Amino acid sequence: MLELKLEDESKTLLLGSTIGKTIEDLVTKDFEIHLNGDLGSGKTTLVRGILKYFNWKDVVTSPSYTLCEEYEIKDKLLLHVDLYRINCGEDVEVLNLDRDTVLQKIIFIEWPRNLRTDRTADVIINLDHDNQARRASIKCKDIDIESSIKTYNENN
Ligand code: ADP
Ligand code: MG
Repeated sequence: MLELKLEDESKTLLLGSTIGKTIEDLVTKDFEIHLNGDLGSGKTTLVRGILKYFNWKDVVTSPSYTLCEEYEIKDKLLLHVDLYRINCGEDVEVLNLDRDTVLQKIIFIEWPRNLRTDRTADVIINLDHDNQARRASIKCKDIDIESSIKTYNENN
């Protein structure tokens, strides 16, 4: 597990670009990241950093009302899901996250604990408030991914 202190918003965005670069360098298959943490802990900011790394120049809106925002960027389909407001009984099935596509799917899920059916995450990130700053703990299924995030982060 990787523990990082994120002093301000720019550090959260930077961690996002670090994760983006790691995905670009090491990941060829579909990939799923689960983001835990209270409201305002920086989950959406982190996803914004990743999208920025992949050169998304347009706005990134929080999917808190739409449940899912989709971004097609070159050979990738990025799905940003926020389950904070999902009604009990409602299922993420409607979002069709497991759809077949020739694109490489990268899925981000905020509030994954509201999933009715468990999904396997490649990376689990917990964000916490730490006075004005934030703390991130990052758990990766693949140790190479974790070392890559660590190395890029140290060199930033
Ligand atoms: P969430 O999606 O977890 O509800 P957001 O990403 O919308 O949270 O962020 C809430 C606020 O926290 C934003 O105003 C953002 O600028 C701020 N923020 C993000 N990262 C940090 C950080 N490392 N330190 C201080 N503020 C941060
Ligand atoms: Mg959010």
